[in-house]
Amino acid sequence: MKRFVILGGGYGGLTVAHKLLEGELPDDTVVVLIDRMPYQGLKTEYYALVAGTSSDVELRVAFPSDPRLIIMYGEVTDVDLDAKQIQMAGQDPLDYEWLVVALGCTDKYHGIDGAELYSNSIQTFSATRKTYLALNDVKPYGQINIVGGGLSGVEVASELRESRPDLNIRIIDRGPSILSAFPGKLQEFVSSWFIEHEVEMRGHVSLHKLEEGALYDLNNTSPILSDVTVWTAGIQPVALVQRMNLPKDNQGRLIINELHQLPDYNEVFIVGDCASLPFSPSAQAAEGQGAQVAEVMQAIWAGKTPKLGKIKLKGVLGSLGKKSGFGLMGKTPMMGRIPRVMKSGVLWMSKRHFG
Ligand SMILES: Cc1cc2nc3c(=O)[nH]c(=O)nc-3n(C[C@H](O)[C@H](O)[C@H](O)COP(=O)(O)OP(=O)(O)OC[C@H]3O[C@@H](n4cnc5c(N)ncnc54)[C@H](O)[C@@H]3O)c2cc1C
Repeated sequence: MKRFVILGGGYGGLTVAHKLLEGELPDDTVVVLIDRMPYQGLKTEYYALVAGTSSDVELRVAFPSDPRLIIMYGEVTDVDLDAKQIQMAGQDPLDYEWLVVALGCTDKYHGIDGAELYSNSIQTFSATRKTYLALNDVKPYGQINIVGGGLSGVEVASELRESRPDLNIRIIDRGPSILSAFPGKLQEFVSSWFIEHEVEMRGHVSLHKLEEGALYDLNNTSPILSDVTVWTAGIQPVALVQRMNLPKDNQGRLIINELHQLPDYNEVFIVGDCASLPFSPSAQAAEGQGAQVAEVMQAIWAGKTPKLGKIKLKGVLGSLGKKSGFGLMGKTPMMGRIPRVMKSGVLWMSKRHFG
């Protein structure tokens, strides 16, 4: 049998699998889904896992069950594009006919000394569990620093505030304000929420070193003390993709053609946070791309020429704890209860694969 192998059962990879299984597969082809986890982790909700306001089990989505789907668990360590073979830790190599690389992203530390060692990550389910433990074991009135005032840093800070009113929480950013990619009106709304809920925002911090219990700013001689530091200051594709010697954009994402294939290896599709797209990495983009990869394959299998439209993103939604939030639909900012309810609706749909 020919194998259509999907590396990564997250937003992108799982969408490819679902969409393919909704249609017909050639009789001589099986879909193989490989992940280190036995379920999808709903990464867009990791801020709630880390704060302790959602339980682990609430953020798991079962993989599909279908006789045409083989699920394999393990750590993918390498892909040999010329031999069309996947290497996995402790397992025999696996040949493929078609491949989807949808392995997501990891933290980017910008070369800051000690950042990886002395900060906590929320980029994998496993790392998020460890960060949850570290944060929730902090003694009353301890000091938390969240490095990076983007969407995920804001969500972690606000959720943690609701979970632990006693803690001193600070968001650090090298820019002047939080949510620099969002309109001023939204920045002001979120800043007011933080002021009201006693979350400190410290801008213009240029970190150059992290040590146990302290962060160092180039512009200030006194260290910033920290019981636990959470890193939300940058992402890049996973290490396996970082090692691929292929054309990439300035964020390290693999360059793809208009059908989401590697230009020199048309049997390989790159999806989600690993792919160079005209927009920022997001679950929405990964799902949009995943659906299109399935369309391309169905056209190829039917002997037709694949033609794709543009991926349309619906907007961005962020939470400020469980009762408030913010969003951007096109150019329209949204603030308060409504975007929060919409975000809960999106989560409800993700859990049921209606995303
Ligand atoms: C706190 C937070 C909030 C976010 N909020 C939003 C939001 O509101 N809206 C939005 O659109 N996006 C949001 N994002 C971004 C979004 O989560 C990612 O862009 C999305 O998960 C990317 O999908 P993906 O399919 O590329 O990767 P993922 O969903 O991360 O899936 C990758 C899969 O690959 C597996 N994997 C990785 N490496 C290996 C390996 N070596 N071997 C085996 N398996 C492996 C992982 O276990 C995982 O299942 C948020 C992210 C965070 C951290």
